[in-house]
This record gives sequence, structure tokens and C-alpha cells, in this order.
Amino acid sequence: MKSRKVYIQTIGCQMNVYDSGKMMESLVPVNCSPTDSLGEADIIIVNTCAIREKAVQKVHSFIGRLNSLKTKKENLRIIVAGCVAQQEGRALMNRFPHIDVVLGTHTVHRLPDMLEEVDHNGEPVIDIGMSESPVEFDAPKSQLQAQSDTNRFVTIMRGCDNYCTYCVVPYVRGRETSRRPGDILNEIQILTQSGIKEITLLGQNVNSYGIKEGWLTFPELLEMANRVVGLKRIRFVTSHPKDLSDDLIASFQRLDKLCNHIHLPVQSGSNRILEMMNRKYTRERYIEKVEKLRESAPDISITTDIIVGFPGERHEDFDMTLRLMETVRFDNLFVFEYSDSAITPSSRFPDKILQKSKNERLQEVLRLQKHISTEKDRLLVGQVFPILVEGPSKKELKSGALVNSSQKELTGRSSGNRIVNFSLKTDCMLDIDAMKGEIIDIRIDRVFSNSLQGSPVEKDFLKR
Ligand code: SF4
Repeated sequence: MKSRKVYIQTIGCQMNVYDSGKMMESLVPVNCSPTDSLGEADIIIVNTCAIREKAVQKVHSFIGRLNSLKTKKENLRIIVAGCVAQQEGRALMNRFPHIDVVLGTHTVHRLPDMLEEVDHNGEPVIDIGMSESPVEFDAPKSQLQAQSDTNRFVTIMRGCDNYCTYCVVPYVRGRETSRRPGDILNEIQILTQSGIKEITLLGQNVNSYGIKEGWLTFPELLEMANRVVGLKRIRFVTSHPKDLSDDLIASFQRLDKLCNHIHLPVQSGSNRILEMMNRKYTRERYIEKVEKLRESAPDISITTDIIVGFPGERHEDFDMTLRLMETVRFDNLFVFEYSDSAITPSSRFPDKILQKSKNERLQEVLRLQKHISTEKDRLLVGQVFPILVEGPSKKELKSGALVNSSQKELTGRSSGNRIVNFSLKTDCMLDIDAMKGEIIDIRIDRVFSNSLQGSPVEKDFLKR
């Protein structure tokens, strides 16, 4: 069979980004290669997100638009995976008869077999079965070696047992299961041998890694990753505040490769709303954890998620959220307007908040965070940070200046997860590819809303 081009549309979180990568890797041995062009594709995979109503609408509208492509190209295969596929299953296929394969969140590894089945029988196939221990498929070594990125995600667990009342994850991703430490270590080692310098350990609640299985704890897993030769940095997402242990907090001091950043979703500053959300911590407990983190790692960057307009959120509840932001002074945050999802308990809660109020509260959170971030950012000017170089900056790539200019602009990330761009003169025979994955000291000169601009401290670092 002739080689087929695969286009993947990924909607949603890092877990979906990771799964999309794995799906592509699993199709390479069956004569497929990736494409960025929808029109050129022989196989289109839509990896979906059901976390908010807007995301589901986006998925439906994208799948709907694929119908015209399918009409033009008879052999085009359309595959839907991820949370919407899991949630809607057969109904999705009934609504969009041009879909060939519906894959659940626990059946991603079956993609090549299901594709073969459609090719063979010409009939659509669906598998959204869930299992107590979902299969992870490890990519063959040779394909990973062909990639030259500096950072990669590594899934360490799937699912969630927390049942926050607004969240679909426990229903569409299943109960919490951890991957075996040996499999995780193997994947990190393969990635490191192929040139990856930074890994981000992924899970819905990494802090409870291994507890159920009685394997390593999450801090022990971090320690294991910290010993991998050639690996320079480790990050993780996401942490549930209730499971943030003292041992994990101490890891920021103990482990030299662990980045100085934690994403710790608070969701609300009101104890009444936190209880309705079933978050299992109070604002006082959350603030206490933040204080401990800052004792362990004084410069740690702390980011968070906030939901505004949860059912029954009064002005005084929202005010508590703003006061918490002032107390903690987050480095950054993501704020979302609450929206119902049919399968979550909160969709049946009374006292829904008007859209107008949700929008006003969202704007207020953004305004306050901008003010806090501006004040914090000012203090960064003149400071020096080790930056892991990721490659040419967006500006450089866009302008095409990389080829002609006497100045090259590179981009990288600080340990605190800030994007830092910096310029270099090209008279030193700069090899951009060789620079990728290097850690160099950059002094911050200017601060922008989404990035920092700096310059190398050591002018002749290239001669090292
Ligand atoms: S901890 Fe809560 S918000 Fe996070 S995935 Fe689990 S149920 Fe969803």
C-alpha cells in the first residue's frame, strides 16, 4: 500500500498532545508519515477535549467541516479520539456518519489495528472500552531518535479519583492508574539518549502517583528521574493542592534538575465554593502550602487555575478569590468561566451565574493578575537566569531573518517557565542546532507580557 499522510488536530491539554504524538508514532510502522496540510491528508485524527462546553462545540464544528473533504476524497479516513470520543461514543458516529474510527481514552494503542479493520471491511469501527489498567504503548527507539526537540512530555499516570464536581475527567479518563516506574524510566532514558534535555511528567494529579499501587511515591519517582544521565531539567503537571506533601515540597530544594515552578490550581478563594467544588482543601490550607513551598524554594514560580462564576458564587465568594490572589501573588494564572457539562454534578446545581457577571469576574481576575505580574516582572530586570535554549525565536522564524541577518534571536525557557528571547551576533559562526539544549546564562533587559528579552552574560560562551 502507498504511504499515507496523517494530519492530527489536537484540542485540549498536554495529555492529548502526548497521546497525539504516540498515535503518530504508532502509525509510522504501518507506512504513514505526518503532514501539516489538511488537504494533503489521507488520515485525519481529531484528538478531542470535553473539559468545557466551548471545547466540545469546537470539536463538533471541526468534525462537521471534514465532511466536505471526505466527499472529495473517498479513501480519506477520519478518526476521532480523546475525551469527546469517550463521552459521546456511538452518538458521535450517528451524528457524523463520515467518521471511520472512534477511539476511547483507554484504547489509543489500538489505533493501527482499528485502521486496518476499516481498510479491510470498509465499515466504521468504535472502541471506547475502559480498563482498570490502560495499556501504554512505548514508541520504538528508532523513531524517537529521529526527533530533535529539547523537551518532551512523559505520562506517568492517567485518570483521576477526585471527582471535583465540575470536572469530566474521572468519567472520560477513568479511575487513577499509575504507570510502572521501570516503564517511565525506560521512556525517559530513550528520550534522553535521543537528545531530549527536559521532560515534563504528566498526570491529572501527579502528587498521588503510585499511592494506590504501592510503588514509588511521586518524590521518589522524581529522584529516580533526577539520576538520569544527560537529562538537564524535570517539570511536572498537574498537582492537586490536597496531595502536595512536605516531601514533594522538599524536592525543590533537594533535586538539582527539578525546575523552580509549580502549577497548583486553586480554582477559588472561597471555602464555601471550594466545598461545593469538592476540592477537599480550604483557602487557609492552600496558603499554608504556598508558604511552605516558598520556604523550601524562595524564588519558586507559582501558577494557578481559577474558575469564575461557579454555580452559587456570590460577590463575597468572588471577592475571597481576589483577596487570595493578593495574598499569594501568583506568577501567572489561567482563568476560566464556569460552564455546564451534562455529565458533571455541578450542571445540576442551582443558582447559575449570568454570563455577563461571569465575563465581568473573568476580566477582573485578569486585571488584578496583570497588575501583580507587572510588579513582579519589574524585579526581574537585571537578574541573570540559566536558560535552556530551544531554538530560533518566533520572530526569527517568522521574518526568515535567520538566513540573512547579522543578528540571530534565539528562544529558551527559564527554570521558572518564562520564555526568554535573546540575540546573538552571527560573526561567531553560530550553529543554531548545536545550541539547542544548551543552558546559558542570560541577563534580563526588558519585560513583555508573554516573554522576557535578555542578553548572554558570557560573550564568548560559544567557545566553551
Ligand atoms: S483533580 Fe479534579 S479537576 Fe483535576 S482532573 Fe481530577 S476531578 Fe478533574
